[in-house]
Formats: sequence, C-alpha cells, structure tokens
Amino acid sequence: MHELAIAESVVDTVTQRLPGAAITCVYLEIGALSGVVADSLRFCFDLATEGTGLEGARLEITEPPARCRCRSCGAEFEPDFPIVLCPCGSADVAVLGGEELKILSVQVA
Ligand SMILES: [Zn+2]
Repeated sequence: MHELAIAESVVDTVTQRLPGAAITCVYLEIGALSGVVADSLRFCFDLATEGTGLEGARLEITEPPARCRCRSCGAEFEPDFPIVLCPCGSADVAVLGGEELKILSVQVA
C-alpha cells in the first residue's frame, strides 16, 4: 500500500523536525504525475497519525497539474494523464512538473 508508506514517512519527517509539537495541519503538494491518490493518502494519514503528535491533524493537499514540453516541436502542454503525448503527435516529451511529492508546511497548535 503505497499511500500508507508515504503517510508514515510524512509523520516521521514532521515528528523528527518538530518533536513533541502538537500539529494541527499538514500541507502537502502532490503532483498529478506522482502516482499518489490524494483521497487514499488522506485515509492513510488518519491511520498513520494515530498515537503521534499529528493525531487529529488535518491534511491539506494541493495538486499542481502536470507540465510537459515536447522535444520535437517545443510546445509546452498539460498532458492528458496517463497519456503523455504532444498535440503535434510526438511522444518525445520532457516532464517539467507534476511529479512533486513534498511537505509544504505544517501548522503547530
Ligand atoms: Zn510537439
């Protein structure tokens, strides 16, 4: 279960940085191409925070859209995930964004 491992690592990271703090909210950024399902992560977050300083904390998730640039024609576009194909028909594209998976900030009580 991918999302549970991520939720646990978020809890570990926050408790290491802010030992003993009562966390009320965690802000996460999860790119559209990260492969993480936000709803699933919310559910796992509640499980992973049980008995920790993050218990009862809210999870705010922002999901930046994916951005790609075509190596053939140079166009930048938002791919229709999971099909990463330029409108010109080329599949030779570089992913510029959307793979983010990071903690933006936390709110302490
Ligand atoms: Zn193109």
